[in-house]
Amino acid sequence: MPNQRVVIIGAGAAGLASAWHLLDADSTLSVTVLETNSPGSGSTSRSIGVVETQYIGDFDIAVRAYGRRFFDMLSEKHDLRFVRTGYVRLASKESDFADYKLSIARQNAHGVHDACVLTAEEVEALIPQISMAGRLGGLYGPSDGYVDGHLYSALLTQLVTEMGGTVVLNAKVTEASQNSDGVFSLATSRGNFEADIVVNAAGGWAGKVGDLLGAPVPLIPQRHSAAIVEVGADLANMVPMVMDYVPGSGRPGLYFRFERPDQLAAGLHIEEPVDEPADPDSYIETGSDEFVLELAEQLSERLPHLANAGIGRSWSGIYPMTPDHAPIVGLHPDNPAVICALGGGGNGIQLSPAMGRAVAETVVNGVVTRLGEHNPWDAARLGTSQ
Ligand SMILES: Cc1cc2nc3c(=O)[nH]c(=O)nc-3n(C[C@H](O)[C@H](O)[C@H](O)COP(=O)(O)OP(=O)(O)OC[C@H]3O[C@@H](n4cnc5c(N)ncnc54)[C@H](O)[C@@H]3O)c2cc1C
Repeated sequence: MPNQRVVIIGAGAAGLASAWHLLDADSTLSVTVLETNSPGSGSTSRSIGVVETQYIGDFDIAVRAYGRRFFDMLSEKHDLRFVRTGYVRLASKESDFADYKLSIARQNAHGVHDACVLTAEEVEALIPQISMAGRLGGLYGPSDGYVDGHLYSALLTQLVTEMGGTVVLNAKVTEASQNSDGVFSLATSRGNFEADIVVNAAGGWAGKVGDLLGAPVPLIPQRHSAAIVEVGADLANMVPMVMDYVPGSGRPGLYFRFERPDQLAAGLHIEEPVDEPADPDSYIETGSDEFVLELAEQLSERLPHLANAGIGRSWSGIYPMTPDHAPIVGLHPDNPAVICALGGGGNGIQLSPAMGRAVAETVVNGVVTRLGEHNPWDAARLGTSQ
């Protein structure tokens, strides 16, 4: 429907990518983003910003390959800083290599042609500081890299505004009501906004916003931390990002990436929600002592040659997670005027372009086709999971 009023709650990666894709798909839409604070002020600006395609499942690769193309476009056309450090996912068992071969074939099919398998010796040649003890090699994406979540949000805000959308800052949605035609009225600190469609892109707050909208979602906010590692010397070259998390292990695994010649950014990643839900309005915004100790231990095992390294500033943010670890994107089964764009977990930057594209397909075509017939992100599963 032309001139449909779409109001997106949340100017993080998910909300802003949704706004961009909506306006790109149909410039007659009226698109407004309402944001409590400033663009990216939630999880997005606290992320490590890694964008990569080194997954095994075809769907996981397809959505990330689309994300890569979107970040390539932003970098080429709009000067977004996309730092191509490369990315290595370490192998801990022989059977990983069969998966990696499958991954390379699938990445090829989705237009990513440079991924390859490395032996342990080849990883050591790329990253002279690393110890490969207990690791057999890796899956390497040479053109993977990272973006700065704050700059990504600022650029999308600028582009959305240039495309005719509106991003209203300091506008926290505090109340929502719906008239008999289904039109929403959203009360904010910057006045009331009417919407034919509301997109819940509120990240760690999506559970609270879902309740306000009468469209509940099972969002589990998980606090995760990261830290700057002062290397204590200059790294000779831009080492690739390393992911040493063993999927399904139930144990947070180390990751680190190049930040500057004398700094790495590092953290501990896990795909499952393992802690008590955090309150996104009130959580400790630095890494705990336990986090710093565990990080230091894993770093000294994996990077034993950085003898003078020390952990500097640490910070925390929220992984917006769902019970089955997959984002929820599409029409809410209880209310056809609410679209979900939430649950990016620890991957919400790299997944945001595909999430935004699915939101636009939902509004413009009424159906999401590009995520395939068995779309694991489909919000219809809320009907059975709650
Ligand atoms: C330490 C750390 C490292 C990470 N590293 C990576 C990485 O390397 N790669 C990657 O892809 N992902 C990473 N992530 C995950 C990524 O940051 C998140 O998945 C992503 O930012 C979520 O984006 P979002 O838009 O869903 O949520 P957010 O960025 O939190 O945006 C939601 C927005 O909604 C606003 N909002 C909430 N309630 C309301 C309301 N009532 N009214 C108006 N506005 C409201 C909030 O203010 C917020 O700005 C990392 C996360 C952390 C914490």
